[in-house]
Amino acid sequence: MKCALITGGSRGIGRAICIRMAAMGYYVLVNYKSNVAEANTTLALIKENGGNGELMPFDVADKEQIKLLGNWIEANGDKYIEVLVNNAGIRDDSLMAWMAEDQWDNVLKTNLDSFFYVTRLVLNSMLTRKYGRIINIVSLSGLKGLAGQTNYSAAKAGVIGATKALAQEIARQGITVNALAPGFIKTDMTEGLDEKELKMMIPARRFGLPEEVASAAAFFASPEAAYITGQVLSVNGGLYS
Ligand code: NAP
Repeated sequence: MKCALITGGSRGIGRAICIRMAAMGYYVLVNYKSNVAEANTTLALIKENGGNGELMPFDVADKEQIKLLGNWIEANGDKYIEVLVNNAGIRDDSLMAWMAEDQWDNVLKTNLDSFFYVTRLVLNSMLTRKYGRIINIVSLSGLKGLAGQTNYSAAKAGVIGATKALAQEIARQGITVNALAPGFIKTDMTEGLDEKELKMMIPARRFGLPEEVASAAAFFASPEAAYITGQVLSVNGGLYS
């Protein structure tokens, strides 16, 4: 059975990607940290649309908890993770002068370290089967840097570098590694922001929808995108700088 693992699939962009992957025929592994009610809603939406999947809670910032994914892979030899979407992420903004150590550590662990610890567990079976799709959700902040987000910008820029490096390591094995860089997308993460004011900076004059990021993820996940790897695709309504 072909599976798609989406980290942070309980809400926002991750949920929209889960639903889209289910529509592509994947058995969806819905990862989340703690919000079991929202994760169950994602699973229910997958099933309502004729798909299937299961919940897979673990904290992507905790390499001990990520071992649960390794255990699942060992115990489920009949299932194969063909698509991995590293989507789980947090932001914890502060000007650098006032940034606490745990603000730096938590954002780096959740957004950057998780890429390494989760992806390496999934990589082996992709290499064996000579096929796979790895999609990393980064951010406009990782491309241009954003004041108040040295931690988040560093983490996302780090994932962009890793995307380009890993893409070169495994292109010959039929595995693509790409990144999506959303601008402002309507989710819990952007809830406190002043959309009325911020949208004036966005050429499309609106925030994006999670489904619009999911459409781009579906393209990278498709067999048709086989010759595209190491790329960063912006989904930002034209907002560049
Ligand atoms: P969101 O609505 O806040 O949802 C975050 C998701 O990540 C939830 O499913 C949450 O699980 C999960 N998560 C957080 N920490 C986790 C951890 N340690 N382990 C496992 N799961 C964890 O966020 P979003 O806006 O959809 O963002 C998704 C991704 O897009 C993030 O990487 C974010 O940086 C990126 N992004 C978002 C925007 C935007 O405008 N929204 C822009 C650029 C980039 P629980 O429900 O259990 O908490």
